[in-house]
Amino acid sequence: MSVATTTTEPCPVCTGSTFAPAYAAVGHTFERCRDCGLVRMADAPAPNGLADFYAADRASATTAEQDHAANLARFATILAAIERIRRPGRFLDVGCSIGTSLLVAQQRGWQAMGLEPAAAAVAHARQQFGVDVRQGTLATAGLAKGSVDAVLMHHTLEHVPAPDRVLAEVFDVLAPGGVMYQSLPNHGSWKSRLLREHFGYGITDEHLWHFSTRTLRRLVERTGFRVQSVATWSYRQDPRLLWDLCGRFGKRAWLERKAGVPAGQSMDVATYIAFLGRAKWAHFVCNRLWPQRLCRWLGGGEDLHLIAQKPA
Ligand SMILES: [Zn+2]
Repeated sequence: MSVATTTTEPCPVCTGSTFAPAYAAVGHTFERCRDCGLVRMADAPAPNGLADFYAADRASATTAEQDHAANLARFATILAAIERIRRPGRFLDVGCSIGTSLLVAQQRGWQAMGLEPAAAAVAHARQQFGVDVRQGTLATAGLAKGSVDAVLMHHTLEHVPAPDRVLAEVFDVLAPGGVMYQSLPNHGSWKSRLLREHFGYGITDEHLWHFSTRTLRRLVERTGFRVQSVATWSYRQDPRLLWDLCGRFGKRAWLERKAGVPAGQSMDVATYIAFLGRAKWAHFVCNRLWPQRLCRWLGGGEDLHLIAQKPA
């Protein structure tokens, strides 16, 4: 049975200090705030360990590169939403990876700058795209207060040790009337509810915080922002879905046999992808099955997008 624990670190969303065990996954344990429902990694590495982790390029440039083409289109949609509130000025992407959003922002008339802790991603951004990316975080960058018109954090807030502090830093660096755009995995999504601790899109060993629409909105409002809109995105193509479903319903060993994994071994990514390529039913599950439009329409998508504005 779940036992509540009291820790010294209060909840960044509601400042509550009582957490109850939630689930174990990806080699970590997670706990849920008794007051607001925010889930956090209970055994997260110390902040210095995390800084080393990212500086050592675990968040490698090659992974981000694979997403580059899809991200060009996504960032264009995101910038268009920002521009409905604020015309192009100074744009900052906090946790910009290889700088794809900066390319898109520049094309749309923004003066774009990015911050990124991973050295390999910074080097890639500068050498391949020639964009202005500085290695570090908002806390180390020393940017002047009120010096930015729009801040994007794309799958970044769930990685930082203190999301409340980072949002306060974003608030400070924004000019009055400036816009903040947050996108991150939605732990109130249909996939999260269906897959529970097997929600592989949202639950990784790098995600310290599992936000839902409710908890993210509350944190953003508590920082002083006015929330302008909340939406969710969902994806029909999701190569992880079959693996996650089999984990959820105790069928991983069965799937490994189907995929021809020798007894005593476990599935690796290459074997899994090859299996999706030759088994039509598995391909169907991962590319056709998910009701993406309905899910998005009803606000249950696995990506949470929130736009907020600093009061003028
Ligand atoms: Zn809380």
